[in-house]
Amino acid sequence: MARTIAAPRGTRDLLPEETPAWDRAESLARELSRRYGFERIEIPLFERVVLFARGLGESSDAVEKEMFRVSGATGSEEERAEWALRPEPTAGLVRAFIEHGMHVRPGPLRLTLIGPMFRYDRPQAGRYRQFTQWDVEVIGDPGPAVDAELVELAHRFYAELGLTDVVAHVNSIGDAACRPAYRAALVEYFGRHVDRLTEDSRRRLAVNPLRVLDDKQLVPELADSAPKSVDYLCDACRAHFRAVLDLLDALALRHIVDHRLVRGLDYYTRTTFEFFVAGHEGQQDALGGGGRYDGLVELLGGRPTPGIGFGIGLDRTVRAMEAQGVELPPQPASLAVVGVGDDVADRLLVASRLRDRRLSVRPDGTTRKLGKQLEAAAKLGATWAVIVGDELAQDRVGLKDLVTGEQVTVGVDEVAARVSG
Ligand code: AMP
Repeated sequence: MARTIAAPRGTRDLLPEETPAWDRAESLARELSRRYGFERIEIPLFERVVLFARGLGESSDAVEKEMFRVSGATGSEEERAEWALRPEPTAGLVRAFIEHGMHVRPGPLRLTLIGPMFRYDRPQAGRYRQFTQWDVEVIGDPGPAVDAELVELAHRFYAELGLTDVVAHVNSIGDAACRPAYRAALVEYFGRHVDRLTEDSRRRLAVNPLRVLDDKQLVPELADSAPKSVDYLCDACRAHFRAVLDLLDALALRHIVDHRLVRGLDYYTRTTFEFFVAGHEGQQDALGGGGRYDGLVELLGGRPTPGIGFGIGLDRTVRAMEAQGVELPPQPASLAVVGVGDDVADRLLVASRLRDRRLSVRPDGTTRKLGKQLEAAAKLGATWAVIVGDELAQDRVGLKDLVTGEQVTVGVDEVAARVSG
């Protein structure tokens, strides 16, 4: 036998037994997108590296360490270094917004997509190289109402899925007016404690000091007494954050202010937020996160336009559903069509008529004994067996409940009502 080939490290196959929970999360995401007035958009899975470098920041982990490069088999070194799989959707989405002149549309625009993201990171539990996000973005709305509305949307998503104990961590990291003072305060503070920083943090301190707060290995006391961004906000940013917090209170949305929540990407301004199950608040546990990016459209060459969005990780959401034993809606009835002897054409015809009625049907196409066909149907998880026999001349079939074993004879056109009732 030839040697088998394993899936790439950090990827996962979604097996049929896992897809019902996944489908539930994905269909709820689509349904809520509709309920909140978001329109679907799709963008490529890969973009120019320079888009991510400029949008996310050269010093972000996503660009510096986790770019998943793609290249053609031919072309120069430079050409082959030009593309990367998207680590997140916002930069590509804003690129599309600018490229298609979408600023002339009636706004604010509400856009959504669900799809895979790629980060060439060290794989571990809850951290994959390919993972799926439900992403929502509102472009052209300065807030603060929409900031609270997005937190409410994410909370509703988790609640309607059946997850309990979800808490939003929120923070404000200011804007171009006040961030420099905060940055300077961090440089000064961590500069005094360089010997207690990791190698990684020392480097971050030089290029992007906010991200020292992101370092999982940061000594807790050092983190606790670090300058807090909220103490450095300019009047406009402070008023914005106050308004967001008041709205979260008014909507009774569970949240805490988390001073370490700076988010890893350069484009964020003002409001940042992440969602966790209370008590599971490590970095690999975030179920989703997002924030405001009022400078990004301009940074990528468009007119100054505010924006805000979030990405919810479906892989981690589904994991949390499993961990909390969330009940899934019952699966619709599944039917097997079985028969006696050489009546395969009849079975296919009956199956076809049942599918006209929107039922899920698998006909048995073999000539094995009826008992064997029923056994196989039960093993495959069918809940009902439709038995085709002589009564078909009167347009009637046997209908056996494979759970209780009960059997009746009914008209073919009555089957749908019987199994759905
Ligand atoms: P981020 O923008 O990095 O905060 O990502 C938003 C959400 O996507 C996170 O809260 C996670 O739920 C999910 N996510 C991010 N990176 C990964 C990953 N490597 N593997 C699985 N899920 C991820």
